[in-house]
Amino acid sequence: MKTIITLLIWAFGLSQPCHAQKKIKAMIVTGQDGSHWWRGGSEAIKMTLENSELFTVDIHITPDWKEDISQFNPDFSKYELVIINYGGTTWAEPTRKNFEKFVAEGGGVVVIHSSVVGMDDWPAYNEMIGLGAWNGRNEKDGPYVYYKNDQIVYDYSPGPAGYHGLQHPSTITHRSAGHPILQGLPTEWEHFKDEIYARLRGPGKNMEILATTYEEMNGNGRDEPMMWTVKYGKGNVFVTLLGHAGNDPELRYAMECTGFQVTLLRGAEWVATGKVTQQAPKDFPSKGIITLRKAFKAPFNAYN
Ligand code: ZN
Repeated sequence: MKTIITLLIWAFGLSQPCHAQKKIKAMIVTGQDGSHWWRGGSEAIKMTLENSELFTVDIHITPDWKEDISQFNPDFSKYELVIINYGGTTWAEPTRKNFEKFVAEGGGVVVIHSSVVGMDDWPAYNEMIGLGAWNGRNEKDGPYVYYKNDQIVYDYSPGPAGYHGLQHPSTITHRSAGHPILQGLPTEWEHFKDEIYARLRGPGKNMEILATTYEEMNGNGRDEPMMWTVKYGKGNVFVTLLGHAGNDPELRYAMECTGFQVTLLRGAEWVATGKVTQQAPKDFPSKGIITLRKAFKAPFNAYN
């Protein structure tokens, strides 16, 4: 009998991703965003992270637009990872200083989609995100950064930052396929319908572009960065422009994409610990093939 139980435990253990290590303590900052369903998006991010069994996640909601933002000053130092899903008012100075210290001393940060829009008047935040969009950003904030003929381009020509057209599926091309976040994944894959940001500008310092997609503006196309990392002090930041969440539960389909979820999970683990222990899952999308995880959870056979 004991042997049978042992065998069952062994078999069950094999059927799950093996994550015996201590869970990573993460917080999501959310609460203001004029164009996105921040609550639903943040819930989807929390489900994705916690269903992986690698993370525990607290959601910290900022005061609303007309409320006093200085009331928001969470203890970042209790966490290994801060996920920003926030497109609102710039945080108060003590909060900004605490966050800069958290990252400079080695804290991990993940920046989601519209979180590259707000807080444009905070120089350290612009450094952490590498590239930003809208809110008056232009040539004063740094170059456009994109790929042309498989070469990275830093384009200092004047002009506004930030553009998106209608939502559509897009082909994601890896540019640093050996990076731990991308290692072992298909280097070209189809992302589900999303709002693709283009023409970002920023300091772009200590930045490594992980993946791009070809996006046109007025008939003029570029390979635009979609995912990248930035080193800030001892800390690492992972930015993903994927993951638009519209204004009702049917409108977070971009976050249902397996590619979005898997790169989020790997980016989050890497910025928090400096390594990625997750295997490449069998349900990852590939060239011309979209796959979804509608429950924000890997299917039972994804890793075996
Ligand atoms: Zn969006």
